[in-house]
Amino acid sequence: MVGYIESAGPGTDLGEFRVGDLVLVSNAWGCGSCRFCRVGMEDHCQSWTMPGFHVWGGYGELVRVLLGPWSGRPGG
Ligand SMILES: [Zn+2]
Repeated sequence: MVGYIESAGPGTDLGEFRVGDLVLVSNAWGCGSCRFCRVGMEDHCQSWTMPGFHVWGGYGELVRVLLGPWSGRPGG
């Protein structure tokens, strides 16, 4: 999914990103805490989340997503 960061939750660390940035977000993300996620293998996570299946997806006007190491800038 590609979209602009509309807002961030209180205390959220956006890292290199800022509100208003165009970002590319993976179509699935891990829990962030299991042994697979901790070593960057989110695709093996047993508690992964897929927008459009587990939560509202990319066709929504606004989508709540997690930014992580798998997020980036389109074309960058
Ligand atoms: Zn996980």
